[in-house]
Amino acid sequence: MTTNVVYAGSYISGAEHANGGDPLPVVNPADGREFAGVAAATADDVDAAVEAAARAFDEWSALAVSKRGEILGRAAHHVEQHLDELVGLLTREQGKTLRDSRIELTKAVDTLMHYVGLSKSLRGAHTPGLDPGVEGYVLRRPLGVVGAIVPWNFPTTLLCNKLAPALVAGNAVVAKPAATTPLTTLRFAELLAEGGLPAGVFNVVTGNGSVAGEALVTHPRVRKIAFTGSTPVGERIMAQCASGVKRVTLELGGSDPMIICDDADLTAAASAASMGRFYNCGQACLAIKRVYVFESVADEVIESIAAKARRLKVGRGDAEGTQMGPMHTSGGRAELAEQVSRTLDRGGELLCGGAQPDDPDLADGFFYQPTVVVDPPHDSPMATEEVFGPALPIWRVADFDEAIERANASQFGLGSSLWTRDLKRAREGAARIDAGYTWINSRTKVYDELPFGGWKSSGYGKEHGEEAFDYYTETKSVVIGA
Ligand code: NDP
Repeated sequence: MTTNVVYAGSYISGAEHANGGDPLPVVNPADGREFAGVAAATADDVDAAVEAAARAFDEWSALAVSKRGEILGRAAHHVEQHLDELVGLLTREQGKTLRDSRIELTKAVDTLMHYVGLSKSLRGAHTPGLDPGVEGYVLRRPLGVVGAIVPWNFPTTLLCNKLAPALVAGNAVVAKPAATTPLTTLRFAELLAEGGLPAGVFNVVTGNGSVAGEALVTHPRVRKIAFTGSTPVGERIMAQCASGVKRVTLELGGSDPMIICDDADLTAAASAASMGRFYNCGQACLAIKRVYVFESVADEVIESIAAKARRLKVGRGDAEGTQMGPMHTSGGRAELAEQVSRTLDRGGELLCGGAQPDDPDLADGFFYQPTVVVDPPHDSPMATEEVFGPALPIWRVADFDEAIERANASQFGLGSSLWTRDLKRAREGAARIDAGYTWINSRTKVYDELPFGGWKSSGYGKEHGEEAFDYYTETKSVVIGA
């Protein structure tokens, strides 16, 4: 790609569509330079995409489920054959390392294939003998046009979590990627179409949330919004979906606690903490954002996590050997730096990081050093707010009850993890922690096989698992009389 390519903006009915809005800059987070512009969608452009999806819906939804799976599977395979191209593009617009881009894109294709596989095994409910000679069954129908709104941290996996069950269930989709990461999504859509996905079944509108996003959410022909992003925007979308009683699923912010008990495999736990916090430069919803470690083993664990943080090689995402790339925007970095400094003003000890790297080659990018803070006050910003970057607070706790109490003292309830060799304590932790996921002695890896959705302010509804189909279909009870 040459410098400052200007893109038409949307992908509608299997073709580029020239948006009516001004171009929005796409910036490489590694050097702060704009390298592309993408015309923003207006409400009219969103309307064109929704109408295209509505037109495609009838034919798509009439196909056998397994046929939809077969078509999506072929299209996903075509995407997979172009993975190298997508990896470079994702790193350039998002900032993550080439390795992380490959992991993300491989997972996105895997998710498509997971639901392709399920397309051959969907079954429903039948109830015999409701009354003598009377039986019932539950009919399932797709919703129609689904709007998928996605943030910039994992543009393709978060999209495919919605796209795969929505399409296999028979819906047509209009997606809006984040304004700062439109390119990989546009190319992804083009590749799916080249791979045989019928025109109009999957459309992309780019642009700002406040214009294109809102137009999608409030469009009367959109029957469901699947949203991943921040809690305040999710709350606003949920309120807007009340009009017309649109279906909505929300995957929102989190502040995942990790509890490390005195009987844990401390080496493995420290390694999971470092991976769980610094992966994707700390910009993940499901990331370890608070660690609570038993006092008796705290010094060893804290030193081990800090040593890992100090060793991490920070650099451009496309440079050899980089383990952690830049943050996605300078605004995000400023917000993180401010959260760390507001926290340290209140107390706690900074063990490492807390600033931009001093390497002059990284001066123009949005870099921030891996940061570890020990024992800040429990009501300080790093304890109570979502920290969306590479900064980890760690607290010493007296015992399991204190750990659970602290873990649950948050408005969020997305993920959580627990490290212990005591089976009784593991089961108790799984039952008592308020969150949509609890990993026990495991890295925080998301499986398509298991349903996942946040509790409390972290979300509404589930993605992944067979359960995802429940959120892309309506059911109807049918009674057949004697
Ligand atoms: P935002 O909520 O600001 O943005 C997410 C998406 O929504 C973007 O496409 C954005 O567009 C769009 N949007 C913004 N305002 C509106 C609106 N009024 N109506 C419709 N759409 C709108 O989130 P962030 O960019 O801050 O993303 C990070 C957040 O996402 C974090 O809080 C993180 O925890 C959460 N997240 C949750 C995950 C989960 O599964 N639970 C996974 C990953 C992230 P635009 O680009 O123009 O802003």
